[in-house]
Amino acid sequence: MEILHRVMFNTTSKDILFHTVEDLGLITKTSQLPIDGGLLVFVDISESNPHWPMISDLISALGASDRYDTVFTEEEVRSAEWLRLISTFEQGYPYPKGSWPFKQSGRPLLCQKCATYTQTGPIQFIKEPNLGKKSFMSLIWQNEVFCSPEVFQGLAEINLRGYEPLDAVIHKTGQASEKIQQLFVQNIASPGVIVDDEHERIVCPVCGVAKFHPHMRGVMKIYRDAIIPNVDFMLTNEWFGHGFFAWREILVSNRVAQLILDKGWQGIRFKVVDFV
Ligand SMILES: [Zn+2]
Repeated sequence: MEILHRVMFNTTSKDILFHTVEDLGLITKTSQLPIDGGLLVFVDISESNPHWPMISDLISALGASDRYDTVFTEEEVRSAEWLRLISTFEQGYPYPKGSWPFKQSGRPLLCQKCATYTQTGPIQFIKEPNLGKKSFMSLIWQNEVFCSPEVFQGLAEINLRGYEPLDAVIHKTGQASEKIQQLFVQNIASPGVIVDDEHERIVCPVCGVAKFHPHMRGVMKIYRDAIIPNVDFMLTNEWFGHGFFAWREILVSNRVAQLILDKGWQGIRFKVVDFV
């Protein structure tokens, strides 16, 4: 497991940080800003880098942008009992794009403030997606995962449970897509996501539902009694996101992860979940 940071800053006010990362050869890329706006500097660095503590202190002192995420090794994924399934291939926007998130095909909102929703029908695509060599995809701004027929065939062959293929409708033709179907997960686990700090969630002032900040650091921990027995797919009870972004995490069993890794299907990645 590695915690990877993408640090971004403008050289105009952060000379010390710039010279430090330049001297250490840590600059990933730069981009010249117009009209003498200085240089935008990007640094990708893991917390295992021996220079990280010093860089981290400079980021805090100077207020540079710092986004991070956790990457697990294949061995860690293969030995985990449960995992989060995360799309890495986004293509196209939800339909209708112009009224996102208030009016979406198949996904009426439960609350206009926090944008939690329920799915009542097929999700529409403006046109057929182009998967290229990918087997999984999602739409920009949404967490629903779609996959190719070969994936559904593979899931069915080893009798995985807790999902159903749901047609996605192509708006232009009104017909079901021939390339993808939604990997629809209906089962919702009991509440159980563990947070270290109550500030990691915000309670909606309108509907009272709590939304957790996106879980980016390390292993997500969930109480074991939240698990639905005898399924390989389930959604977290908890909502994640901020602003108008709202989603439930898709949890999958080890059997699902092993199958996808064995087949080499692309377009998703896994993050380890620990049921305690
Ligand atoms: Zn709400």
